[in-house]
Order: sequence, then C-alpha cells, then structure tokens
Amino acid sequence: MIVAMQEAATEEQIQRVIEHLVGMGFAVHRSTGARQTVVAAVGVRADFDIRNLEVFAGVQEVHRITAPYKLAGRSFRPQGTVVAFANGVKIGGQEIVVMAGPCSVESRHQLFTVAELVAKAGAKALRGGAFKPRSSPYTFQGLGLEGLKLLREAADRFGLLVVSEVMEISQITLMEPYVDLFQVGARNMQNFNLLRELGKVNKPVLLKRGIAATLEELLLSAEYILAGGNYNVVLCERGIRTFETYTRNTLDISAVPSIHKLSHLPIAADPSHGTGLRDKVAPMARASVAAGADALLIEVHHDPDKALSDGAQSLYPEQFSQLMDQLRIIAPAVGRTIG
Ligand code: PEP
Ligand code: MN
Repeated sequence: MIVAMQEAATEEQIQRVIEHLVGMGFAVHRSTGARQTVVAAVGVRADFDIRNLEVFAGVQEVHRITAPYKLAGRSFRPQGTVVAFANGVKIGGQEIVVMAGPCSVESRHQLFTVAELVAKAGAKALRGGAFKPRSSPYTFQGLGLEGLKLLREAADRFGLLVVSEVMEISQITLMEPYVDLFQVGARNMQNFNLLRELGKVNKPVLLKRGIAATLEELLLSAEYILAGGNYNVVLCERGIRTFETYTRNTLDISAVPSIHKLSHLPIAADPSHGTGLRDKVAPMARASVAAGADALLIEVHHDPDKALSDGAQSLYPEQFSQLMDQLRIIAPAVGRTIG
C-alpha cells in the first residue's frame, strides 16, 4: 500500500501516519522527496480499509497494491482453474462450453423439445430455471421441484449437464441430486450467507455478476465460495446496468479479458440477459468468444413468442444452430474449440 502525503504535510502528521502503520503491523518504508513524502506499507491484510488512512491529517491519497481477494486472484493459481464434470466436460480448458435452454422450465414438452435441439446443435449443458427470481411477484415463478426433475431427465436423455439457479440456502439440498452446476443469479451475487453455504457444497457454482457490481465485488463474492473450500467456481458476465436503456443491460465484454487477468477462475458470458433482445444475442455471443470467454449461457426456446419468461431474448432453434456454426469458425481463430 502506498500513502502519498500532501506537499504541505507537517513532520508531525507524517510521523502519526508512520506510527499508525507500524502499530498495525506493517513494514514501513519512507521516501522523502524534495516536495512530497511517500510512505510504503508492506503486509496489508485483506480486510484493511484504506479509508481509515485517507482521513488522517496530511494524507493526500492512499493506494492499495495487493487485491483484497486472495484465493480468487490469478496469482493463487497462475495456470488457471479448469472446472471438470464427471462426463468429461471441462470449463476453463481449450473447449468453449455452451450452456443453453429456456429461461424457465415450463412443461415436459417444452423442455424435452429444447433439450434435444440444443444438444444436436452442440450445447453441453441444459440451462433452465426451476426457481425464478422474477422482478414482479405476479409473474411465473417457476415449477420448483417438478422443474428440477424434468431438467435431470431431459439432460440425461440427451447427454447434457444441468445448470439451474439456487435462490436460497434451503434449496441447496433439494437441488443437489438434480443439478451439476449451481447457478447464483445476479440478484444474489451478494447474498453472502448463500455463498458461504455453497462453499461447503461438492458441486461447481456458476456465479453471475450483480446488476451493478464491480469486478472487484464479483471476485470478493467468489472468494466467499472459495474460502469455504469449493474451488470449482465459474464466473459469468451477464450485463450491468448503465445509463443506456436501449438494451436491457450493457454486456461488459471487457470483463472477459479483465477477469482472465485478475483471476484464475473461468469466465462465461451471457448475451441473452446481457442484451435482452433476440437480435443482439448472436452478435454479442460471437464477440464474447472472440474476447476469450470460456463458456456461453444462451436462452433458447422452441416457441419463444409463447415463453412464460424472457421470450424476447430467447433464440429460435434455427438461430441457435446457425450461431453455433458461426462460433465454430470464430473459436479456432482465438485458439479454442467449440462443441
Ligand atoms: C437467468 O439466468 O435465468 C437469470 C435470471 O439471470 P440473471 O440472474 O443474470 O438475471
Ligand atoms: Mn432469463
């Protein structure tokens, strides 16, 4: 950590800062320039709040050099994390994994129809909500346990993994027999109690970025899961809220290379929630693959106009298979393969 003192800082103010840092257990190095004194503190703990120093008299600015997350940081595992599943699918390896399916599980007919078509087109996981975090309590809330059972059956029939959202701690044990990857939705990214419980679970977690979360906040949330002993975490950029209202959210594609630099965890992109508009999904999926995404989450429905949730952003079957064909051309250009 670097503490830059104001030009007008008195020797007494500088000493007070140094004494405080020494008292906190830091190794302190002072550099006295012609105009300004800079104090470097080594050994900053992850929980240290730099604002405590910023308010000291005579301090101009304070910069933390080490990240506040330790286990999620790239330096913890410079080679990167590969999340492997029992059927051989890996997220974070050379192959880009596509997870596709309807926003919500609606019926047996719907789910089996969509599962078959996404599997044929090259998806490796069936995504679908059984518990839905809907903005309005008056809209379809999901089929619950019945939806989970349908997901497992359809995924097994077509050789797919199951990804589904867990909204609260009480659902973890209920869901465990049916899902391969627990999804934590954007609205729950900072539900720290839920994250802590998922740290104890023996199944991977897909952690979506919160609607207004910084990358640092996303990585700190991942840290909760890792700190519990579950290192199988896949992060997901799903669009953030900006001043732009034309699209539902703004898909921050720069999060993909940024996360690769900051963390060893694989990063997925979700252009469906990231844009909210069907015609924007394929271009943003192509861009995400070009940017280095390790996985994609795509909403597909056999009859999107009648979907009970997120129909406007769900691809028609032909659009999905056409997109997969395009991604098979883009992936090799960035050293990857795709189903
Ligand atoms: C979803 O993936 O179905 C979902 C609700 O996403 P998010 O949490 O990103 O809004
Ligand atoms: Mn959705």
